[in-house]
Amino acid sequence: MIELQGIPVSPGVAIGPALVLDADGYRIPRCLVAAEDAAGEFARLTTAVDAVSARLETNRLETSAVAGANTGDIFAAQLQMLHDPRLHAELGRRIQEDFQSSAYAVSRVLNNYATALRRLDNPLLADRAEDVLDIEKQLLLELGAVSRQPLSDLTEPVIVLSHVLTPSETAGLDRRYVRGFCTETGGPGGHTAIVAKGLELPAVVGIGPFLDAIGSAAHVIVDGDRGRVIIDPDAATLEHYQLRLQQRQSLTARLAELKDLPAETSDGLRIQLSANIEFPQEAHACLERGADGIGLYRTEFLYLSSADEPSEEDHYEAYSQVVREMDGRPVVIRTLDLGADKMGHRPLVEQEHNPFLGLRSIRLSLRNLDLFRPQLRAILRAAVHGDIRVMFPLITTIVELRQARMLLNVVAEDLSESGIPYRSDIPVGMMVEVPAAVVMLDHFVREVDFFSIGTNDLAQYTLAVDRSNEYVADLYQSCDPAVLRLIARSIEVADANDTPIAVCGEMSSNPARALLLIGLGVRNLSVPPSTLHRVKKAIRSVTMEQCQQIAERVMKFQTARDVDLYLLDRLGDLVPELVLK
Ligand code: PEP
Ligand code: MG
Repeated sequence: MIELQGIPVSPGVAIGPALVLDADGYRIPRCLVAAEDAAGEFARLTTAVDAVSARLETNRLETSAVAGANTGDIFAAQLQMLHDPRLHAELGRRIQEDFQSSAYAVSRVLNNYATALRRLDNPLLADRAEDVLDIEKQLLLELGAVSRQPLSDLTEPVIVLSHVLTPSETAGLDRRYVRGFCTETGGPGGHTAIVAKGLELPAVVGIGPFLDAIGSAAHVIVDGDRGRVIIDPDAATLEHYQLRLQQRQSLTARLAELKDLPAETSDGLRIQLSANIEFPQEAHACLERGADGIGLYRTEFLYLSSADEPSEEDHYEAYSQVVREMDGRPVVIRTLDLGADKMGHRPLVEQEHNPFLGLRSIRLSLRNLDLFRPQLRAILRAAVHGDIRVMFPLITTIVELRQARMLLNVVAEDLSESGIPYRSDIPVGMMVEVPAAVVMLDHFVREVDFFSIGTNDLAQYTLAVDRSNEYVADLYQSCDPAVLRLIARSIEVADANDTPIAVCGEMSSNPARALLLIGLGVRNLSVPPSTLHRVKKAIRSVTMEQCQQIAERVMKFQTARDVDLYLLDRLGDLVPELVLK
């Protein structure tokens, strides 16, 4: 049994067989061979090496003839690597002494080489890493070992173990078979984490290197509540987690009974409890769970999940589906928030040194009007079907907000001139997720109809901590007092101007933090659909006065740790059912 600790990003427990992905998403499960077959396995590798070697030599000759000897030398260098005696010794040891399959040995050894080269931080050597991975692929193909099947071709339940999973890869996981996942990299606030929550997949990220230690046919437990991953659990551990799984399932069933009850404190304060979605299909689950509306529709996932760049019609169809499904309830459509960890089809941005401080979100939309206009047209067109509101992300300056609003007006005029049905009188809001916006909120408040606080980015930019970086995960705290002060100030300004303000960052999906936000004056929360019932349960278990007392006390603390410990303690007193043992 191996116990690993990572960052819990999506709650729940999952148990199942491991599916190990290599860096490129190939499926190379760790397989062992019987001791008596090891020599034959090594011979298979030698044949594969010969075949790849012959192909590289042909490539070298042909390329040299066409493009000159310098270009042909690329293959000469690959040949040299392929015949490197240390490489052969390492492969031989793994296959003949550790009895690893040749494919698994190739995948591990060459990936390790490539990683070592990349770490040297030298662009020339980093290019060599690509050569190493190329050789890996060729050998795996020769061994008949790579299955180029996408993960969507699964037929049995698995727990995915991977070095990295991008938000779009995560979005592509087949929920019928993938029970959970864990990755070596990743941080607490990254979009991979958000998608995992959306899909209700227990997940742990930022574990550090561990894939090498995974045994053949490993069984895995993912504890998404505590960030633990257990490989090949012993009988007692397995029993413990099976019990946890049952307890969770029965709690989920009990909470589901709250579906048709309002999100109202026990002394009658009604809270608007909406849901965050990434895909139109999720709207159905939101309704099923009694959401008051969609408080955040992350529309960029239309880009991340489709093979081609979405057209205006694709946007229109998606938004119309959501707003029709929500049947008169408000739907807040956030315009594209591409960039940083969410890249679309075409390279909209050159490689940036600091992508989270770079050309992302509204900045990217305003500089790519051929991307932005179709989306705005589609939003205004879909608005004829229901209560659509538009929201701009990452607004930092008044100028950006004005530009975005102006474009919305221009697009409305175009639609009007073309005689296309649309609605232009929709509420326009902005996300409050950059400290500069909070500082200037008394000016912004005159130019928007509503605000929504994005605590994920607000914490990132206030604390100068990359939300998806595992090395600084401990510093990424949405309950840091500095973040809480910015939230409190935003609420104050909004209230003083009678402008609605919601919180749609992940902070509101934590029941104890939701109570704190209510105590600070928030009356509108938007949470992932999977957490709707928990948050509602917390709201229905307390009085307004209790929330205010929580807020009053919390605002006196100096550290995020003190805040979180106190909140957990209060939740234990007020809603013990929600505190997992
Ligand atoms: C946020 O930043 O809090 C937010 C809701 O937006 P996203 O997580 O998509 O950046
Ligand atoms: Mg954000």
